[in-house]
Amino acid sequence: MVTQQQRTKYKLTKRAVRRFAEHFKGEIILPEDGLYSSARRVWNHAINQYPLLIARCTDPRDVMRALEFARDNELLVAVRAGGHSFAGHGVCEGGMVVDLSPMKKATIYPALKLIRIEPGVLGNELDCMTQAFKLVVPLGSCPSTGVVGYALGGGASSITPRFGYACDNIAQLELITAEGRKMVTRPGEHPDLFWAMRGAGSNFGIVTALEFHLNPLEQVLSGHLKYPIRQAAKVLAFIKDYAPGIPDDLFLLFAVLPHPGDRMLNVSVVWPGDPQRGEKVLTPLRKFLRPFEDTIEVRPYLDEQRSGSDSPGDGDYSTARRAGHLDSLAKESIDLIVDHAAKAPTEASGITMIYWHGSWCSEPRDDAFGFRRSGYHYWIHSYWQRAKDAREARLWVERLFSALAPFSSGAVYVNDLQDEGEERIRAAYGDKYERLQQIKRKYDPNNFFRVNQNIPPALS
Ligand SMILES: Cc1cc2nc3c(=O)[nH]c(=O)nc-3n(C[C@H](O)[C@H](O)[C@H](O)COP(=O)(O)OP(=O)(O)OC[C@H]3O[C@@H](n4cnc5c(N)ncnc54)[C@H](O)[C@@H]3O)c2cc1C
Repeated sequence: MVTQQQRTKYKLTKRAVRRFAEHFKGEIILPEDGLYSSARRVWNHAINQYPLLIARCTDPRDVMRALEFARDNELLVAVRAGGHSFAGHGVCEGGMVVDLSPMKKATIYPALKLIRIEPGVLGNELDCMTQAFKLVVPLGSCPSTGVVGYALGGGASSITPRFGYACDNIAQLELITAEGRKMVTRPGEHPDLFWAMRGAGSNFGIVTALEFHLNPLEQVLSGHLKYPIRQAAKVLAFIKDYAPGIPDDLFLLFAVLPHPGDRMLNVSVVWPGDPQRGEKVLTPLRKFLRPFEDTIEVRPYLDEQRSGSDSPGDGDYSTARRAGHLDSLAKESIDLIVDHAAKAPTEASGITMIYWHGSWCSEPRDDAFGFRRSGYHYWIHSYWQRAKDAREARLWVERLFSALAPFSSGAVYVNDLQDEGEERIRAAYGDKYERLQQIKRKYDPNNFFRVNQNIPPALS
């Protein structure tokens, strides 16, 4: 609930809001409005915060006006697009939400292999548009994630081994800075900002348009191999030896996931190359042990994207999540995973791992993205719908996270973080963190954009 105390703290009067509305084309949603309770919701329902107002922007001018209003009234600002941050950074308590979801214009230039999108465009919308021309941007498989929010943190996709992270495909960004300045950055233009935006973007401004380079892709060889959970140790032991030898283009993910009546070990593969070669590469994996389901086949890329992720879709779900990275898959880690999987409090508690490899995931690139690591990226996740299940679900995630910590490298992917404090944000950027602090000092010295995985400005 928004209290009178909060309104007073932020000195927000009805008159001030009325004057703001006169120059704002979009929708302004206040706590007394019918839309408020759904508009303040973010994907992770464990986050339950009450902003003073939500400004749904229709264009960059609206964004500028909203920021001006926030500055004049000393409001804390959260920036929301798809609302899928696990930490719930698309909303804040007692401040203003700058909601970009209505900004959905997109223009594709197939001959130039380029697309320009506004920040309200979602994953599924972008995939549909690019696939109409047999082109692609590396996106996750969740249809409702905001593309810009995803790409500003890096953007990990099943076609990353082939085409890089989403941030590797950014050609240009248009943004509004904390002081309301409109800027364009691309290679050679504000190079420090272009460097920083690709990996730590939410810290430096609000992106009002983004251009991606597009890659050709029409179909993939992909699917799932599903095993009963009792065979998990055997499958993971096989993967430990198989993964280091796979060709660069192969995406390999495995997960302990819900399955009616019990849970299962799911292995997912995506091969964007020649299907015949892919069949050969996958033969040992498909043959070493008979799964109860094998769905691997050649399919349109769009069908693969629609085949789902390890997270439930939009709905009334709360989640806890902890993520990390293993350089290799030791027997001890396999034993821990199998053991904890057996003790999970709900069916919807599991662990997912991606084996990252190849040049995009290991060779240094000139950007702020801090998770260019080969090895095993993992996230431990638990979902619940009833408040009484929250404690056990959270505890189980923390227990497995602590148990894996001694085997982990300490690296973490920023888009996986909940609100976990400065140390973990430093871990997400490694040796890039201090340069990011200097750039933050130049473009946002007062840390106006701080409802994010925050990089505070350098002091000097
Ligand atoms: C179900 C699910 C599946 C996911 N799958 C993947 C995946 O496969 N790969 C992957 O890499 N990540 C994945 N993610 C993580 C997701 O990409 C990040 O949480 C991303 O930041 C979400 O962006 P959003 O716009 O939806 O979220 P929001 O909560 O609206 O925003 C997230 C952050 O980005 C900032 N932001 C958003 N738009 C802008 C903008 N225009 N300008 C400046 N800052 C902005 C916000 O301020 C906030 O800090 C997944 C998340 C969920 C919930």
